[in-house]
Amino acid sequence: MFANIIIDISHEKLDRTFQYAIPLELESKISVGMEVEIPFGNANRLIKGYVLELTKVPEFDISKIKPIHSILKNSVMIEAQLILLAGWMKEQYGGTMIQALKTVIPVKQKMKSKEKRCIRLLLDEDAAKAQLEIYQRKKNTARLRLLSELITTKVLDYELVTNKLNVSSAVIKALKEQGILEVESEQIYRNPVNMQKKNVPEIQLNEKQLYIVDAITKDYRNGVRNTYCIYGITGSGKTEVYMKLIKKAVEQGLQAIVLIPEISLTYQTVMRFYQQFGERVSIINSRLSTGERYDQFERAKNGEIDVMIGPRSALFTPFRKLGFIIIDEEHEGSYKSETVPKYHARETAIARAKMAGASVILGSATPSVDAYYKAKKGEYQLLTLTSRTSQSELPSVYTVDLREELKAGNRSILSRKLRILMEERLSKKEQIMLFINRRGYAGFVSCRACGHVMKCPHCDVSLSSHNNGKLICHYCGYEEKMVKLCPNCGSKYIGGFRAGTQQIEEIVKKEYPNAKILRMDMDTTKSKDGHAKILSAFANGEADILIGTQMIVKGHDFHNVTLVGVLAADLSLYSNDYRCSERTFQLLTQAAGRAGRGTKAGEVVIQTYSPSHYSVLAAEHQDYEEFYNQEMSYRSIAGYPPASNMLAILITSKEEERADNAALLLKQQIDLQMIKGLAAIGPSDCTIAKINDIYKKVIYVKQNEYDKLVMVKNSLEQYINNNDRYKNINVQFDFNPMNTY
Ligand code: ADP
Ligand code: ZN
Ligand code: ZN
Repeated sequence: MFANIIIDISHEKLDRTFQYAIPLELESKISVGMEVEIPFGNANRLIKGYVLELTKVPEFDISKIKPIHSILKNSVMIEAQLILLAGWMKEQYGGTMIQALKTVIPVKQKMKSKEKRCIRLLLDEDAAKAQLEIYQRKKNTARLRLLSELITTKVLDYELVTNKLNVSSAVIKALKEQGILEVESEQIYRNPVNMQKKNVPEIQLNEKQLYIVDAITKDYRNGVRNTYCIYGITGSGKTEVYMKLIKKAVEQGLQAIVLIPEISLTYQTVMRFYQQFGERVSIINSRLSTGERYDQFERAKNGEIDVMIGPRSALFTPFRKLGFIIIDEEHEGSYKSETVPKYHARETAIARAKMAGASVILGSATPSVDAYYKAKKGEYQLLTLTSRTSQSELPSVYTVDLREELKAGNRSILSRKLRILMEERLSKKEQIMLFINRRGYAGFVSCRACGHVMKCPHCDVSLSSHNNGKLICHYCGYEEKMVKLCPNCGSKYIGGFRAGTQQIEEIVKKEYPNAKILRMDMDTTKSKDGHAKILSAFANGEADILIGTQMIVKGHDFHNVTLVGVLAADLSLYSNDYRCSERTFQLLTQAAGRAGRGTKAGEVVIQTYSPSHYSVLAAEHQDYEEFYNQEMSYRSIAGYPPASNMLAILITSKEEERADNAALLLKQQIDLQMIKGLAAIGPSDCTIAKINDIYKKVIYVKQNEYDKLVMVKNSLEQYINNNDRYKNINVQFDFNPMNTY
């Protein structure tokens, strides 16, 4: 028998399996997915690797095949299905097989789980009583205590026996050797869900929710596996739909994975699932220790749980009979991995579901353009929930043109409209959320008088201001000198937009000295549960105003919030990336969705310099279709995903010249292939052209068909492997990137 093994060194040249012989003594123990130690290279240095395949067919002269040295005892075995998935990820997203394998095993090493030992009586009652008499006669008091206790309870906790009964381990051992009792040990896995069941009345789904649950369960029962896209406005009851579906699946002996963005993995959400599934639900998140995470995967493997909730990495939970993978807030950028392989959880979930015979459910109030496009094409099945479940209405939305504010002499970040509404809320003791998006901070330059934004003439993305006094386009490399006057209206109020949560807090404090204010951003949520503390304080009415970044717009249900102010919608509108209109629409819609969740009606004020931008207009009208149609026509014309597919090739090196040369050569290689309909743009510097003395270059390749881009990736990987020039150069691939390089 032979094993094909991938070694644990991530290097393009070693990115294939090596064949080893299985020594006789290991033959019965070894299996696919195990980590082993093998002699490697001329010096036969021992290195680690994973068994990917067992075979009877030697690949070359048997006498030259080296034997496996040993099986590593403490490593986690990779399930066969996850090995397949890793192979798929490597092919689709690039990188080495070992990188892909490490992605699908979130914890590599076995962690010590706690053990619980107990003592069990082996004798029948008569024999035990006879033995008891012997101890009485001999005055063996310790043995007497233990045995009489065991006769009544049959099983005793080991610690209890040594501590409370005061019986030594030596005595226990002696009785064990006589066959009177046995000591058993049981693994106790850590359970991070530490909650109390409350008595909440079960929710009766409404007609629309039931329709979705029935459609999906019926499909499943009929052997139909599909990807469903549930487009349901905020508060329309998607989560209840998920839970009902999962409940039905669990009754059939199936398991489910629920992906939610880490930021929404709050006590509130977990509690809702806990009410339904009790101890059979678990979570994974970055706040758990390695040991806790390891235990959750073990519990899944052992069938102790049915539902796993977590961010991206929960996708790799080793369930035996996976029925559903649910991806809530499917549009979230965090579903894309930023490390190699740069996989998207949506596509990877679909791939895993295919292998496992499961179905995938995507849910969002603002579906990603990518998913909605596929749903419209019929690749996913579209299901909709168009009204809120509760009596609450959708909020009224007002757009404020900030240019008019300046004309009227108001230079404050708070518009007149917003101030009137804020005062009203404060007097009525209702709550306010003020939202400022800092993500688009990258330094786009705009005119405060007319709203003009400095854009690239070739790419329809905004230019970024760099410290060297230049405005640069990161898609094509176009650059021009920083302007002093607005080229549109001549105003001198042109510059980078810079306002953070802290400045806003100060302004609001000054204006409303009696209001209690909470601020939520990267700074105030550094501590372990800083996040939860602020949210629960606000939920409990401990503050009137919550000021925050996008953290505050995600999925929280505050019933007393009746006013949401978006202070500068433009901050995300003109970041230098083709998804910025989509992100803006999502943020505005999600922010608006926070208002009026209770019985009182909500209002939303969107402040902007671009009131006629389609993202702002569609958010104002709360009309997803309107946004989608506009956005798709832009993407079609510009050739951006999902109208086309795009591959970003990232080239990094410590030496700028080498990075430049390597990038140019790659570009030549792409051009040489002469693939029809393929456009390669670049190389150019990345937005941040140097990080830690590492220079970063990027090439963008556009093509209609994804598979052709995979071919480009494969041929470049091969080219790189066979070319010594790439020794100290790192090349990464990112398909349909979410962020700008
Ligand atoms: P979403 O996930 O779409 O934002 P949720 O499932 O969180 O919506 O539902 C919003 C609120 O409405 C929750 O408080 C939920 O308990 C409640 N809810 C959902 N479905 C129903 C229903 N059929 N009847 C009554 N309340 C419901
Ligand atoms: Zn450009
Ligand atoms: Zn201007």
